Amino acid sequence: MTFVVTSACVGCKDTECVTVCPVDCFYEGPNILVIDPDECIDCGLCEPACPVNAIYADSDVPESEIPFIEINADKVDEYENIYEAKEPMAEESPYTTEEAIELILSE
Ligand code: SF4
Ligand code: SF4
Repeated sequence: MTFVVTSACVGCKDTECVTVCPVDCFYEGPNILVIDPDECIDCGLCEPACPVNAIYADSDVPESEIPFIEINADKVDEYENIYEAKEPMAEESPYTTEEAIELILSE
């Protein structure tokens, strides 16, 4: 199992999640943070820490957000490790789930 960051993070990147992760397995791209499924120890601490409920256990990801399971696993190699909080981009994502998926896949 792993945890997965989904569309609510896109364009928001509050980064509160990185402050609670004991193994620093968040990676930052231009518009989203993702979790490395190989490093995540399934502690679940990040899920309630995210103010916009963007994080799910992979077994609980809603149907429309399922593409994010692959997005997290794939984008880890392109993105930079992040372990300290920073200024959010916005209070919440301005994108629909479909727009968010399109944006991340087009980066
Ligand atoms: S706390 Fe939630 S919205 Fe903020 S960066 Fe982490 S996953 Fe994204
Ligand atoms: S479940 Fe735990 S180890 Fe995995 S990303 Fe969240 S805080 Fe980090």
